Amino acid sequence: MINRFLTLNVLGAVVSLCASVQAGWVHDEQPIMGTKVSAEIWHPEDAQAREAVDAVMREMHRIDALMSPYKSDSELSRINREAAERAVPVGKELRGLIQRSLEISRLTEGAFDITYASVGHYYDYRNKVKPKERVIAAALPAVDYRHVLVGEEADTIAFAHAGVKLDLGGIAKGHAVDKALAVLKKLGIQHALVSAGGDTGILGNRLDRPWMVAIRDPRDRDAVVAMLPLQDEALSTSGDYERYFEHDGKRYHHILNPSNGEPAGLVRSVSILGPNVTTTDALSTSVFVLGVDKGMTLIDSLPGIEAIIVDQQGALCYSRGLLSLRNADSR
Ligand code: ADP
Ligand code: MG
Repeated sequence: MINRFLTLNVLGAVVSLCASVQAGWVHDEQPIMGTKVSAEIWHPEDAQAREAVDAVMREMHRIDALMSPYKSDSELSRINREAAERAVPVGKELRGLIQRSLEISRLTEGAFDITYASVGHYYDYRNKVKPKERVIAAALPAVDYRHVLVGEEADTIAFAHAGVKLDLGGIAKGHAVDKALAVLKKLGIQHALVSAGGDTGILGNRLDRPWMVAIRDPRDRDAVVAMLPLQDEALSTSGDYERYFEHDGKRYHHILNPSNGEPAGLVRSVSILGPNVTTTDALSTSVFVLGVDKGMTLIDSLPGIEAIIVDQQGALCYSRGLLSLRNADSR
């Protein structure tokens, strides 16, 4: 990644990642997991590229059926219904992702917390409903990742507190993209870009050039603040512009600060680069809550992870690894 980053620059144009006319490239886009899932894949045989794209979409649907909090028959919904009463048996995949989420909670001192949903499920972005102060105050004690108990002997999840709800919205899309890339590798694919909303996983390059992925301007849908040339890399962006409503001049968006149950307000967007999408997804949500100072201190302590933050003034902030590249580039 590092030397590719030398060309990091603010460009005015959006490079389209969509439908290519080149032979061997197949592109598809579907609404899954409440977002746009897109896959662009190259294989010398068109039919194999097409099969690979279909396999990506199947994998996304599989994970959605397992982890959606909106589908009452998902494994996650069953945990949410029953885990305050008893230890609920859980499959290895969901157990593993819950465990990874708890690790990220410890790493971020609770900025990332899948129990945020204990309060979060009272927000209704579609109907512009913000829960009343007293509803938030009553639900807030249930927000604490330490309430989630992962069985040591058996694969089970239990809650140590009533009213706990889990939502993997800050990490499941990254996990799904990583799983999709694993499926592609098994099929022998070497050039692919798979994204689910703001979470992007990249396999190889775009044949004769790197993939170009845009970081959009959080306040202008048609503008781009950076174009990143990427290869074998994960990139996740979290922003306050994806799902939000405005009320009394305040922006209510979908990333909540677990300490007070309110939307985190320190920055406008966070993009994280790293080795896998599960990690970059969870860290983009985490750093969004932490803000520039604490967020960059965390990122600078993690080898192989970099960040670009758009702060509340619209200024771009780079992690140390990216800054040193830019300085070397301009020398
Ligand atoms: P997007 O869903 O747009 O890709 P993110 O990756 O930042 O954006 O995830 C935002 C989602 O993360 C929210 O919709 C919600 O499901 C979940 N979430 C919100 N706040 C937190 C938090 N503090 N910790 C963990 N997950 C969160
Ligand atoms: Mg995220």
